[in-house]
Amino acid sequence: MAETKRDYYEVLGVGRDADDAALKKAYRVLAKKYHPDTNPNNPEAAEKFKEASEAYAVLSDPEKRRQYDQFGHAAFENGGAGAGGFDFSGDMGDIFGDIFGDLFGGGFGGRSRRTNAPMKGANLRTSIRISFQEAIFGCEKEIEMNLKDECTHCHGTGAKEGTSPVTCPKCGGSGQIVYTQQSMFGMVRNVQACPDCGGKGTIIKDKCPHCYGTGYTQSRKKIQVSVPAGIDNGQSIRIRGKGEPGENGGERGDLLVEVVVSNHPTFKRQDTNIFSTVPISFVQATLGDKIRINTVDGQVEYEINPGTQTDTRVRLKGKGVPYLRNKNIRGDHYVTLVVSVPEHLNEAQKDALRAFDEAMNGTPRDNGGAATGKKKKRLF
Ligand SMILES: [Zn+2]
Ligand SMILES: [Zn+2]
Repeated sequence: MAETKRDYYEVLGVGRDADDAALKKAYRVLAKKYHPDTNPNNPEAAEKFKEASEAYAVLSDPEKRRQYDQFGHAAFENGGAGAGGFDFSGDMGDIFGDIFGDLFGGGFGGRSRRTNAPMKGANLRTSIRISFQEAIFGCEKEIEMNLKDECTHCHGTGAKEGTSPVTCPKCGGSGQIVYTQQSMFGMVRNVQACPDCGGKGTIIKDKCPHCYGTGYTQSRKKIQVSVPAGIDNGQSIRIRGKGEPGENGGERGDLLVEVVVSNHPTFKRQDTNIFSTVPISFVQATLGDKIRINTVDGQVEYEINPGTQTDTRVRLKGKGVPYLRNKNIRGDHYVTLVVSVPEHLNEAQKDALRAFDEAMNGTPRDNGGAATGKKKKRLF
């Protein structure tokens, strides 16, 4: 019961003074957007659809709207001020009927393919894996895909040569089955693609033996993929005309190649910048030194300033990732210099450090405390 429900006006995106036409208009937009027919297997859309339908059911009923305005959601909770609570089991066919009637009645649900208009083929998807370096500088890849082509024997109809598809007896050629369903909102009119003909409106009696009635043949084809410099993990490359064949002379769909970029052992990438960590010695940090740093362009020379603190970040300008839209512009490479503390010292090395510490006596230490200058008990 503690679950917070959104305000019905907010759900529909209308003001509290919205009239019937405005409510209907708002609901129609949401219903169309979130209807289960347009969002199969999408629980979030289903939830939104339910929420909008509930809001509309209440606000479009003058009596319920009056109660809601007065008591809010409490009006419809059990024991609330409303008349015995409100549920959605009643027949609301007449509330939703006309909306769904003109939303989904006119061939919306079935996506009828009876028309002879050219239809673009569906897009295909695949993925390729490339290295970190290949993503930075781009590369050419070749992939192999099973691609469909229209069967040359039946020209895509799927019917045996000399025969043609016949009108589907189940749907009478409409490709759609219309039925009404008792739902939690009452009777809802539903339009679905005909299960017998799959929405085509025709069925094949004698199948083409070359394509087994599918209308298509498949063959393995090599496809060149030009991966542009700067592409990032998860981005897709569209290759026009390498998807499924179109219908009625429509163009082929596209092939969408998702790029999966392998991790680099030492470089990390964020957009167009590259990050890495380089260890330096305590002496290099203190006295300064010339070092070589690995970048995607190979090693570059870098001069460490004397007195460099650990975790100092330096920028190697233009050594990052090229911009996808203009590979002549590049991001930067940020290097974090980490001072490594020596381990496993021998006695001679330890003595050298002790002597160094003696020499440093009287100057502040990094741990915030100034050395006392007094002879202390040796800690190391
Ligand atoms: Zn065929
Ligand atoms: Zn049918």
